[in-house]
Amino acid sequence: MKQSTVSTVCAVSLRSSLCMLIALTPLLFLSTLAAENQHVQTVHTKDHPAHWDYLGVKSASHWSMLSKEYMGCETGNRQSPIDITTTHHGDHQQNLVFHYKTSQLHEINNGHTIQVSHVSGCHVDLNDREYKLRQFHFHSPSEHHIDGKTYPMEMHLVHQDEAGHVLVIAVMMETDASQPVLGKFWQWLPGQIGQKVTFPLELSLTDILPANTQHYTYSGSLTTPPCTEGIQWIVLKEPMHVSQQDVDQFVQIIGKNARPIQPLGERVIEED
Ligand SMILES: [Zn+2]
Repeated sequence: MKQSTVSTVCAVSLRSSLCMLIALTPLLFLSTLAAENQHVQTVHTKDHPAHWDYLGVKSASHWSMLSKEYMGCETGNRQSPIDITTTHHGDHQQNLVFHYKTSQLHEINNGHTIQVSHVSGCHVDLNDREYKLRQFHFHSPSEHHIDGKTYPMEMHLVHQDEAGHVLVIAVMMETDASQPVLGKFWQWLPGQIGQKVTFPLELSLTDILPANTQHYTYSGSLTTPPCTEGIQWIVLKEPMHVSQQDVDQFVQIIGKNARPIQPLGERVIEED
């Protein structure tokens, strides 16, 4: 990994003592942790060495041919998203607690999605392990399916613990009712690729997320190149709400941005 990449990673998480350790210890540049940090930060940026897309010759079925780094998109056997069917579940007791505070949100249109980064002071505890919220973004239609059902949108909340493990919480978005707080956020979507917008109000994510934390969980991958595996997925059972107008606006700006369903293979989906 190039030093400049690590510097970029550290620039966005200066307060992380872990990142300072990386900056002070060049030997750690090659560590898995740093690699995963990089993936979290570059998961949805268009400045990656090889450009990819959702349509045409650079669409999902061609990702592995665009770069050697993307081979895992083709050869991996624990890929995301998946169709969560109700016949495969084992019982699993998990204690998921959200600690999301009101914060200022900085949105960017990176060409693949609308992403909100630098969300300060937000984390979740999963079985008493703390995962900091690094960024969240949206897909339309949903990437995961539940019993074959596709939702109009899906929100991904990307977290990371101090050891570098990535936990993504997926929330389905249904259009059966409007969500006024999210509606306000939607009024400020950056329309141009590369455009950044600071949402003028402070927003609490707990106001838009479902109160019920019951979920499915499984081991998968990033749903965008380089399709890195070892990602823990939590898919909330209860959807959040968005208006059809908001979905239409997102698709008008970004286009449809869902990777096709991947084989479950030998994996087991667990349920809380
Ligand atoms: Zn995503």
